[in-house]
Amino acid sequence: MQFLPGVGPRRAALLADLGIRTILDLMEYFPARHERQESRFIENLELGMTATVIGKIAAVTSRRSRQGPTVSATLLDNTGRCNLTWFRAGWMADRIQRGSVVRATGRVTEYHQLAQLINPKLEVLGEDAAPVDESSPAMLQPVYPASMALPSKTIAKLIHDNLPRLLPLIQEYHDPEFLKQRKLAGRRWAVETMHRPARDSDLPAARRRIAFDELLAMQLALTIARRSLRSDAQSHVLPCSAEVDRRIRRRFGFALTPAQDRAIRDIVTDMNRPRPMHRLLQGDVGCGKTVVALYAALVAIANAKQAAIMAPTDLLARQHYESTKRYLVDSRVRFALLTGRLTAAERKAIYAKIDAGELDLLIGTHALIQESVRLTNLGLAVVDEQHRFGVRQRASIRGKGLDPHYLIMTATPIPRTLAMTVFGDLDITTIDEMPPGRVPIVTRVCPPGEATAAWDFVRSRIALGEQAYVVYPLVDETDGSQLRDATTEYERLSKDEFAGMRVGLVHGRLENRKREAVMADFVAGRVQVLVSTTVIEVGIDVPRATCMIVEHAERYGLSQLHQLRGRVGRGGARGYCFLMTQSETARNERLAVLARTTDGFKIAEEDLRLRGPGELLGTRQHGLPDLRVADPLRDQDLLRLAQRDAAQMIRSDPALASARHAALKAMIRQKFADVVGSLSAG
Ligand code: ADP
Ligand code: MG
Repeated sequence: MQFLPGVGPRRAALLADLGIRTILDLMEYFPARHERQESRFIENLELGMTATVIGKIAAVTSRRSRQGPTVSATLLDNTGRCNLTWFRAGWMADRIQRGSVVRATGRVTEYHQLAQLINPKLEVLGEDAAPVDESSPAMLQPVYPASMALPSKTIAKLIHDNLPRLLPLIQEYHDPEFLKQRKLAGRRWAVETMHRPARDSDLPAARRRIAFDELLAMQLALTIARRSLRSDAQSHVLPCSAEVDRRIRRRFGFALTPAQDRAIRDIVTDMNRPRPMHRLLQGDVGCGKTVVALYAALVAIANAKQAAIMAPTDLLARQHYESTKRYLVDSRVRFALLTGRLTAAERKAIYAKIDAGELDLLIGTHALIQESVRLTNLGLAVVDEQHRFGVRQRASIRGKGLDPHYLIMTATPIPRTLAMTVFGDLDITTIDEMPPGRVPIVTRVCPPGEATAAWDFVRSRIALGEQAYVVYPLVDETDGSQLRDATTEYERLSKDEFAGMRVGLVHGRLENRKREAVMADFVAGRVQVLVSTTVIEVGIDVPRATCMIVEHAERYGLSQLHQLRGRVGRGGARGYCFLMTQSETARNERLAVLARTTDGFKIAEEDLRLRGPGELLGTRQHGLPDLRVADPLRDQDLLRLAQRDAAQMIRSDPALASARHAALKAMIRQKFADVVGSLSAG
């Protein structure tokens, strides 16, 4: 990047912060939107628009204020009068003179009932300059996603200055016939148009082409990853007889829900095949995924294979272990818990048992099971709450010989459209109903005026022996931030709202051991109020925790809030969640969705609609680059097209080895290195 005119080491670093590391990155750094900039007569200026006016300067004034020098000018054309104002720009006074004809471009505001352009761009024209031509097409200005240090204008200039030299580097991936059939524009034209649209009406076609390329690349990468996992992979055939099914079901003290039954049917079918299962099991917290996973583990064990259940943290692993212990009372299944808390000697004893084939079921953290264990006879690996458990990680726990079947669980409901994009390498089963008898959580959006009542309510529940979470967006005081933080508020709440009660604090910067100790105190009821950041694990089960207060709720995505509130009301008693907002008017539409529904999928759809896929779950987590232009929700047709084309391309040319796929392959290798590790060079 540094070799580009206009880019030195400092700017290269700023660009890198925005993810722009190569010239190609820069060319593909597309505007978030375009602002229309119209030529207007002064009498036709409208508030809020960005407009260009041409007129004669009738007067210039400068004054000093505390903010620095302000320069104002009055501009006349044949239709009216308007104001031009520059703040902190004393030098402007020398640039403009009474009587000169100028072209001014800026955003239209209002000042003393007169239209006003603030800090407009100014061009001094000759005396005989033509007046504005209102019929001429509007100019579109690209607006780039920017940082403080690198504003959109700077990025725009950098791109525009280099466009003529860089455009020839943009390669076409497809032949003309392919493009024609799909009504897709040429790639170079599309890139140029995104940055420098000649016409408003060109943008949809340019956008469509770029979006298609993004979706096709992602689908190709996923298809390749999927094939590399499956093409030659062999797994154990693990049938489940009616007798085994009966025996397993007897272990649960309840009838499975129809949704659980459907999930089990999918899984049993998969495990009865000689190819490894790669299935994602998704469903809201508490819908009964763990029960389904245990069922699958017991099927593997009934076939004399081992099973592993992996959780992201010690605490969750322990919870899985505890519930397994309950379900497996008096069973012959040999199982153990492997976490970081064990002593070296305890761990060694477990490893010895594994090696000797004396364990059927190992429950532990991802990290430990991955790094230290050779489950030579592993028939099933269950991975809980680990979206990042991508192709690579799965490959890393497969030992020699046959692959295990994989079951990946998540409580982040992902709308089908998005799931197709990010989990293209997994089959998906959804549990969309709760076990009977669940009491839905009461959720209330609280502006500042209702805060006191919320705190009072929570105190009254604690007095009844229940427990509460209070969640903050920050760990501690941050300069310039208006946000409350967990550390300061923990001190305050201990003395104020919750004086005399046992209050604990956990956040991400706490040492692991300390954090675990506080969590353990909360689980055991020794801590009544847990003040925290969002580190409290998904799926944590503290039956007496009934209340949650989330401060600055407007800062979070809906799905994230839904996840958070899933931690209360798990013990049969009703749960309450208070979403505290900063402004009185922030009874905001968005948060109101949470008060209306507890359906995680509806909420995720809403999040997706309002904030885009990046917010719902950073696709980066999956080792996939973000979609910049494509929107899997809006572009469903394109997505289907891309899926079909990707499948077709890989069928006819599995390694993308042919010359006509060379450019496409090079791009995928570069952007999806993590996912398509197996795609050979050349
Ligand atoms: P998840 O892993 O999806 O969060 P769990 O499997 O941990 O959900 O189940 C949550 C709670 O519901 C557990 O206490 C479990 O025993 C109970 N449960 C699960 N399935 C059923 C069912 N079909 N009927 C009644 N209770 C159930
Ligand atoms: Mg769970």
